[in-house]
Amino acid sequence: MCSGRVDLEFILRAFSKGMDGVFIGGCRLNECNYITHGNYHALNMVLLCRKIMEHIGLNPDRLRIEFMSSGEGMLFTEAVDDFCKKIKELGPIGEGDKIDENELKPRLEDVRKLIPYFKIEKREKLASRLESKAEYDGLFTNDEIDRLFSDVVSYHIDPAKCQACMICFRKCPVEAIAGGKNLIHVIEQDKCIKCGTCFEACPPRFGAVNKISGEPVPPSIPEEERAIFRPSKKS
Ligand code: SF4
Ligand code: SF4
Repeated sequence: MCSGRVDLEFILRAFSKGMDGVFIGGCRLNECNYITHGNYHALNMVLLCRKIMEHIGLNPDRLRIEFMSSGEGMLFTEAVDDFCKKIKELGPIGEGDKIDENELKPRLEDVRKLIPYFKIEKREKLASRLESKAEYDGLFTNDEIDRLFSDVVSYHIDPAKCQACMICFRKCPVEAIAGGKNLIHVIEQDKCIKCGTCFEACPPRFGAVNKISGEPVPPSIPEEERAIFRPSKKS
């Protein structure tokens, strides 16, 4: 219905499934029927995605966005024809980018896991409405994207502070937190999508969730050491 609905996840999933190119058609900028102007969001997201693609070695020309009205059939066919021609020139995904097939999939999978982190970190730019092409060309820089990858955050629960209140356990959107009643909670790093919900949700009086950047995540406390023994109320 709206190009603003096209998510980073849709694009990266398409590449992950072997699509050689992704073309997004949106309504003309500033001609949105609603106040949402989702096509600006789509444009910003495409600009971010193209930089991410460059970072992981994929040719960013495999992704294109064009704006046109529903009455501009000729423009649409010309744009799609031109895009298909470009994709044929680039060759199959991976092979045309000189990335081994066995390497490309895990690379894309790793990036897909970081999508919530990218969206949180770049939320202001993703919501922007710039005026000129020059502004768009400079919206995301290569250095900025390198930093985004090098400063990627992780979350860790400090076993000495966790009170097993289970708030983070219930709120984690991907069930990446192992825990239970009277058990110190642990984040399973391979499942975590770095959304930061646990960090926000842990009550300040406990402050047990740490946000880590540029440092290794401490090892998880062994399962047999996770039980919390509380003194009974009578004693
Ligand atoms: S950051 Fe916390 S809430 Fe978000 S996925 Fe990771 S463990 Fe779950
Ligand atoms: S919200 Fe904080 S105190 Fe509660 S279980 Fe999670 S990490 Fe532990």
